[in-house]
Amino acid sequence: MKLQYLGTGAAEGIPALFCKCPVCVKARKNGGRDIRTRSQAVVDGKILLDFPPDTYAHYLNFGFDLPSIQHLFVTHSHSDHFYPDDLVLRHPGYGHQDFETLHIYGNEKVEELFYLLQLTQREGIDNCRFHLVKPFDRIDAGAYHVTAFPALHNRRETCLFYSLEHEGKALLYVHDSGDFPPAAWDYLASAQPHFDLVSLDCTFVKYPDGKNHMGIPDNIKVRQRLFDIGAADKNTVFVLNHFSHNGGCNYDELSALAEKEGFLAAWDGMEITL
Ligand SMILES: [Zn+2]
Ligand SMILES: [Zn+2]
Ligand SMILES: [Zn+2]
Repeated sequence: MKLQYLGTGAAEGIPALFCKCPVCVKARKNGGRDIRTRSQAVVDGKILLDFPPDTYAHYLNFGFDLPSIQHLFVTHSHSDHFYPDDLVLRHPGYGHQDFETLHIYGNEKVEELFYLLQLTQREGIDNCRFHLVKPFDRIDAGAYHVTAFPALHNRRETCLFYSLEHEGKALLYVHDSGDFPPAAWDYLASAQPHFDLVSLDCTFVKYPDGKNHMGIPDNIKVRQRLFDIGAADKNTVFVLNHFSHNGGCNYDELSALAEKEGFLAAWDGMEITL
């Protein structure tokens, strides 16, 4: 399995749209890995994780075959993770119609937006199909087995994160969550998965949070607990992702902090093959 990070920033991106803090000023000057677009990832070019407003930029920059993707898993309805306006462009007149249906998996808020924008059908063509996901649902998406977990994030919707299994490898992709809710820990302890890759939210970098997002102090605790229940071990690759300028670090400082604690810091375009 190959996970590619397409975007690794929080809602406002780095540099943030309207910000002149030192992190944003430096990011604009440096470019490269200091630039972070809104979070999105793709697995084997086939499974898309989230649909931020930067999807078009990711399509331009990273050359994956967006029109052919058939499965999109959405974590929650915040606009940096689900920007359905661009999915309207699958309708006739905007795009070629010789693609397969895009299956979109998400919670009740994502469902609301999906139908509000009438993404489902136009002129008899099944552009997109929505599948409501509840925590601990297991979904077969092509040859990939996906499990949904409840996230600790916006309390007004059922925020989710996902694990993916394929050909004997497994990864856990988490952002927009503080420490996992007790039900997620209970499930992991009883289902006993083993993850080859764990990607964790690190919005606040050196500052702890744990309630809606994480920083490195929270990441260390979550990793230890995954070790304790046997869901990860010394061979598991841990990557930090979904960074905000509020974390106070540009790439060099951030990656050094992460490395010191045994984590990799994601950047836009980073690929990890399991
Ligand atoms: Zn976010
Ligand atoms: Zn800033
Ligand atoms: Zn969010």
